[in-house]
Amino acid sequence: MLNLRESLQGVKTAAILGHIRPDGDCIGSCLALYNYIETYFPEIQAKVYLQDFMPEFLMLTNADKIQHDIDEDVVYDVCFSLDSADKERHGEYVKYFDTAKKTIGIDHHISNQGFAEEHLIIPDASATAEIIYELIGKEQLTKEIAECIYLGMAHDTGVFQYSNASPKTFRAVADLLETGIDASRIVDETFYQKSYVQNQVLGKTLKESVLHLDGKVISGVVTMKDMEHYGVTPKALDGIVSQLRYTRGVEVAVFVYELAENCYKVSLRSNGKVNVSSIAGSLGGGGHVKAAGCEVSGTYEEIVEKLLKLISEQL
Ligand code: 5GP
Ligand code: MN
Repeated sequence: MLNLRESLQGVKTAAILGHIRPDGDCIGSCLALYNYIETYFPEIQAKVYLQDFMPEFLMLTNADKIQHDIDEDVVYDVCFSLDSADKERHGEYVKYFDTAKKTIGIDHHISNQGFAEEHLIIPDASATAEIIYELIGKEQLTKEIAECIYLGMAHDTGVFQYSNASPKTFRAVADLLETGIDASRIVDETFYQKSYVQNQVLGKTLKESVLHLDGKVISGVVTMKDMEHYGVTPKALDGIVSQLRYTRGVEVAVFVYELAENCYKVSLRSNGKVNVSSIAGSLGGGGHVKAAGCEVSGTYEEIVEKLLKLISEQL
């Protein structure tokens, strides 16, 4: 098993990468690792590179230090790839991965083929943040590190409700709570609370959602025009697909939003009968059995039709 302490010996510079359109687990696991390095390896110059994210995540220690811009030609001693099933998920920051002297991948996506030199991929882990907890260990947890890990795990498990939350997950949570973190504040402020307009977009999407295949599938869409109208960007749409899935009788929820003309981001959620990871995978994306995504070109109607065909083959 990967040993963080050993992998950081002699390292002077470290880059930490997550995935494009970073979510709670991505931000939480990257910052947990960053805060661990800052605490126990202060001599290492570390940097987290992530795309822009929602301001509520700024509650995490050092979230304000996350870099969005690309630095000129820096070659890192080590580059960590977190929560990313494939290299393309790093977006433009992939250049630090490609040039680094050593690369280490830590992930929980079953579709991750192990593209880093050294890797630790645990598909049973609820979140990448749970793996980071395993690597750091209870003794070295600080409150600041625990907050990041808790946030990551809470987001990827729907606040510990999805079936990926295992007994191991809850044992980890016990250790995290013992550091004195304010767990309810973390989930309230970063998971449940939405801005007024975010709730309006959610409401509109639910109101206009459509049932298919005898009510076993539900679909919802947000267009660029909608986002312009409400003054939101895609990162404000997190959580809509889960809300769609909470419709009784539904096996699969499909949520798509427009990235560009005839180009959509697809989010899929399943109750378990349908493996959405394989559906997203067949369209160039990936994810988990019950939560997956991809980017697809075509009109909204064409995309839904394509997805319904793939879903009905499994139902
Ligand atoms: P979401 O629907 O919340 O964007 O993503 C759900 C899950 O699918 C996450 O684990 C995420 O990493 C994965 N996922 C979403 N979009 C893509 C994609 O375009 N490519 C890959 N490989 N995975 C994705
Ligand atoms: Mn994750």
